[in-house]
Amino acid sequence: MSLVLVVEDEVDLSHIMRDRLIADGHEVVVVHDGAAAMAAVAKRVPDCVLLDWLLPDVDGLTVCRRLRESHLMPIIMVTARTEEVDRVLGLEVGADDYLVKPFGLRELLARVRAMLRRVDLEGVRRAPAANGRVQSGTLTIDTNSRIATLDGAPMHLTRKEFELLTVLVSNPGRAFSREFLVEQIWGTDFEGYERAIDTHITRLRRKLGPVGERIATVWGVGYRFSADT
Ligand code: CA
Repeated sequence: MSLVLVVEDEVDLSHIMRDRLIADGHEVVVVHDGAAAMAAVAKRVPDCVLLDWLLPDVDGLTVCRRLRESHLMPIIMVTARTEEVDRVLGLEVGADDYLVKPFGLRELLARVRAMLRRVDLEGVRRAPAANGRVQSGTLTIDTNSRIATLDGAPMHLTRKEFELLTVLVSNPGRAFSREFLVEQIWGTDFEGYERAIDTHITRLRRKLGPVGERIATVWGVGYRFSADT
């Protein structure tokens, strides 16, 4: 059963969403503001978040950005604002999809299912280890200090390289599509960035030396970091 967090300050709407999601087989937690959303995630990481844009305390974009600092779970922004610039902004802060109010309940369920299916396919772990450290052989990544060390020596990585390495190494053996990596690293689905992923991978491989061979190209898909042997 998947846990869906609904962040929505319109109480009636939040209950309708909750009931419908429960009827669809999900477990649901409902909160009505941004602070409660952060607290709920700290308590138990959901598989998917439905995040209202306009909340009474902090806005949904800020919540989204904060969640993205340490979590990879899909976030669907819910908004009554339809301007293109707002949509792009929502995706740039790391949202995976958006629903425009008013939305049909079928559409809601379809979007949530699609997101959960994608997570299943990609096999994404919800976050790096609780202490923020990811280790694989002689490679250690500390997501709190944002320092990666190889054979005990700090690596000189750009921010994007660091994020890319963290996603790959946190999920050994899992293949990630370029599209997915672009969404995770740039927070937007822009085709032009898919070549940038290749460039970043090339640099990462070089900086990793022999360990770089563990980043395998999965033909027609993207990349995979092989488990430590
Ligand atoms: Ca609202």
